[in-house]
Amino acid sequence: MTRKFTEKRILIATHNAGKLEEMSQLFAPKGISVVGAAEMNLAEPEETESTFVGNARIKAHAAVKATGLPALSDDSGIEVEALDNAPGVFTADWAETPNGRDFMLAMTKTHSKLEEIAAPHPRRARFCATLVLAWPDGHDEVFAGKVNGTLVWPIRGKLGHGYDPMFQPDGYDITFAEMDADQKNAISHRADAFSKLMSGCFD
Ligand code: IMP
Repeated sequence: MTRKFTEKRILIATHNAGKLEEMSQLFAPKGISVVGAAEMNLAEPEETESTFVGNARIKAHAAVKATGLPALSDDSGIEVEALDNAPGVFTADWAETPNGRDFMLAMTKTHSKLEEIAAPHPRRARFCATLVLAWPDGHDEVFAGKVNGTLVWPIRGKLGHGYDPMFQPDGYDITFAEMDADQKNAISHRADAFSKLMSGCFD
């Protein structure tokens, strides 16, 4: 049985203002108030696991320990089939430079690796998002979402973030970076995980 959420406040274990805003909108109609990690001066724990769920669990349980509040975390990334599902949990790491994250670099690296092994087309990939909701007694619930698609080159579109310009979801002839936010948010990996979270713990 999935545990229902009956508290009035939830901590969102992210320092990303965009994610916090997105989740606040989701919880507002349910009368649940949302607190962000930055507001609580939470440190960002090291993500030492090799799976999305492992890293999401680290973030959620660290936030619960630090605040005593129930906490929701997410971990996400892109898996490329021909690269044995890399970069996966290391998606952000592939973009790391001494001057911050550079996703043009990460996408170019991904394309070069596919060219090196002459990966056949279509080059299948999926965005994954895992949400973990953790309670102060140590219980947690896990919800995984995904969206399948293909990688395109050259990249197309200027909207979105991260790997969006390289990813064309199945059933569309435009990339995530060519979609407006509403269109992407209706079909994204995160939307998929959120709808499972909502029906699992909040309905
Ligand atoms: P994290 O979940 O904050 O650790 O981020 C994982 C990385 O995956 C992000 O830095 C993005 O580059 C990438 N990623 C996750 N979701 C998306 C998406 O919707 N579009 C593009 N890139 C994404």
